[in-house]
Amino acid sequence: MPFIYIVPIELEDHSFLETLEVLISDIFHMRTKRGEFKVNLQEVFDARRSQYNSSLVLQQLIANPPRDAEKILGVLDVDLFIPILTFVFGEAQLGGTGAVVSMQRLHNRFYGMAEDRELTARRLLKEAVHELGHTFGLIHCSQPGCVMNSSTYAENIDQKSSGFCPLCQKGIKKEEPPRAAHRLFTFPWWNKKD
Ligand SMILES: [Zn+2]
Ligand SMILES: [Zn+2]
Repeated sequence: MPFIYIVPIELEDHSFLETLEVLISDIFHMRTKRGEFKVNLQEVFDARRSQYNSSLVLQQLIANPPRDAEKILGVLDVDLFIPILTFVFGEAQLGGTGAVVSMQRLHNRFYGMAEDRELTARRLLKEAVHELGHTFGLIHCSQPGCVMNSSTYAENIDQKSSGFCPLCQKGIKKEEPPRAAHRLFTFPWWNKKD
């Protein structure tokens, strides 16, 4: 039975993860599992930018996936970047296994405002679902409110929901092997059933 692994990476505060696991399981109709994978953040630190290279984090995260891992979501709280952008909330492999999301810029305190744990939890869920959506093959969506909207600022995250618009929901591709029945029976009414 394949799982979505939730992997804290040098994460200080694990208290958000339990709820995150439950909600992700509900949204993707898959079971989730907490994992401890070897990721060395010092190796991906860029001293010039004082940030961590998210693509290199991803690379380490998916280096030795457990057999039952359908998807692997790394959660950390260091500032992530990809070379062409000043920062990223997260990154994922389109149609692949791995995704990462950083909590650092999801906290209100990062912007000098009073911390709001509930808001942080909601932002984390949305960004986690967004990045996992990419691993299921979804690209960015212009539908207002859809979780696959791209977010440049935390305000953008707050404006969208944690759910997929109907089109994105339909587009989630699960890498299931074709069922034998579909190959054996080619009656015209068969396909209409699903
Ligand atoms: Zn995205
Ligand atoms: Zn959408």
